Amino acid sequence: MKIKILGTRGEIEDSLPYYSKHSGILIDGKLLIDLGERAFLNYKPECILLTHLHPDHAYFMRWHHEENPPTSSPIYAPERARKESHFHILSKPLKWKGYSIIPIPTHHSKKVKSQAYVIKKGKESLLYTGDLVWINKEYHPLFDGVDLVITEASFVRKGGMIRRDKDTHQIFGHNGVPNLIDLFKNHTKNILFMHFGSWFYKDTAASKKKLKCLAKEKGLHAIVGRDGLEVDLSQLCAR
Ligand SMILES: [Zn+2]
Ligand SMILES: [Zn+2]
Repeated sequence: MKIKILGTRGEIEDSLPYYSKHSGILIDGKLLIDLGERAFLNYKPECILLTHLHPDHAYFMRWHHEENPPTSSPIYAPERARKESHFHILSKPLKWKGYSIIPIPTHHSKKVKSQAYVIKKGKESLLYTGDLVWINKEYHPLFDGVDLVITEASFVRKGGMIRRDKDTHQIFGHNGVPNLIDLFKNHTKNILFMHFGSWFYKDTAASKKKLKCLAKEKGLHAIVGRDGLEVDLSQLCAR
């Protein structure tokens, strides 16, 4: 699989060239995960998966936008984003044009549902998490041994920003990079970071180095995303 990282900026004010667009990745030119920018539709994806309905992952949710994304391709999400017939809830694995798409429930928000996706084609596989606090242990076998984990880097500090609802005790927010590395270190060799928070923009060279060091300490090879970065999974597998 060939992966193009379309956007690497979290839901923040900061912006820099190569780190200005909100979340999205395009697989083999046809399978899009997250639609953080309307412009991603210019690639004419044939299938669209959304991790959750926050506007930096589903641009058409911003300001209660009434626009329907100008595409007739199916749009799958953990909950129905619009009434139109091409919007679907995806809660079970799906086969699509030779790809296996496996949704995995995640903890991130108390207002919207969220899920990660394992995508498999032939012998290659990846996990794309979207925004993340945690994935329940029962689901970890579903991403064991993936060639690449693509996850977020909103917070570099340990613990990230996690809150707990007083009534339901549900956790929500974003975990820290060190915690995400710990979560995935026994399941993959390669981790790609995107969805950067403000910390990253202060000194991008130092931030990249920091991410690589944190991953290396735990035996992982880190790839630091940027808008437009292309990654060939078959090259990674050969590493
Ligand atoms: Zn986000
Ligand atoms: Zn979010």
